[in-house]
Amino acid sequence: MSFFRTEDLVVRYGRAPEPAVNRVTMSVPRGSLYAVLGPNGSGKSTLMRALLGGLEAEGGHSWIGDRDVGEWTRREIALEVGVVSQSESIAFPMTVRELVSMGRYPHLGPLRAEGEADRNAIRKALRWCDATELERRGVTTLSGGEFQRVRIARALAQEPAALALDEPTASLDIRHEMTIFALLRQSASDGMTVLLTTHNLNLASRFADRILLLDQGKVAAEGKAQEVLTAEILERVYRWPVAVQPDPETGAPQVIPRVGIR
Ligand code: ADP
Ligand code: MG
Repeated sequence: MSFFRTEDLVVRYGRAPEPAVNRVTMSVPRGSLYAVLGPNGSGKSTLMRALLGGLEAEGGHSWIGDRDVGEWTRREIALEVGVVSQSESIAFPMTVRELVSMGRYPHLGPLRAEGEADRNAIRKALRWCDATELERRGVTTLSGGEFQRVRIARALAQEPAALALDEPTASLDIRHEMTIFALLRQSASDGMTVLLTTHNLNLASRFADRILLLDQGKVAAEGKAQEVLTAEILERVYRWPVAVQPDPETGAPQVIPRVGIR
């Protein structure tokens, strides 16, 4: 059973000559970690936004669970899916604690105040993202990576059935990037559905159950890391020479960019 699914999905911005997402068929099994890869502008964010009902499709279909995306209300999606978009600007100043507690909003009725379960979820999410020490800081004072960790914590505090994260570790150092990937891997193994986009081919290779590789809006390859991350496919899509070797520890294919001849 898939959690997110698309069939021949086409998304076009305005009158652009080519669609940004071009007949993409994908299926994200429940309880799996699914990585969407692809060069800049290949349609990763567009696919993610369309999957969550944020962009209208020109063609094809997408489903969340067993219902067409269009049949879900925003609140229903917010209860089920924790979203970390690629970027976000803060409209008004608030503390880290306040931002992360916003993850609980879909669970709170109009009159219900934060309870023990809410406080626990917030505390755990902050701890998982190594953001407990940042709790009292103003969000506008954080570094890029700190802010990113806090945004991931907000999505986790929601305790959703699924997570959709657009380049969640883009500005994180090696320790925090590994912490987040390990956390997402564990969450998926515990039954959460995790869909993410990333430029980190090697961590996608090590942690993802399946990989979708996009190229100019189209599916260039889909499958297990061994099937998708081959030198031939990657050189064609990224137009850069690479070597691919199995990681000695895990056997996962690891991509080493070679010195290009320009
Ligand atoms: P990725 O996330 O893979 O880098 P995007 O999905 O953001 O790629 O973009 C896919 C294509 O759609 C790119 O050519 C990009 O320039 C274009 N695009 C993205 N957002 C918009 C927009 N709001 N209006 C017009 N074109 C857009
Ligand atoms: Mg993007």
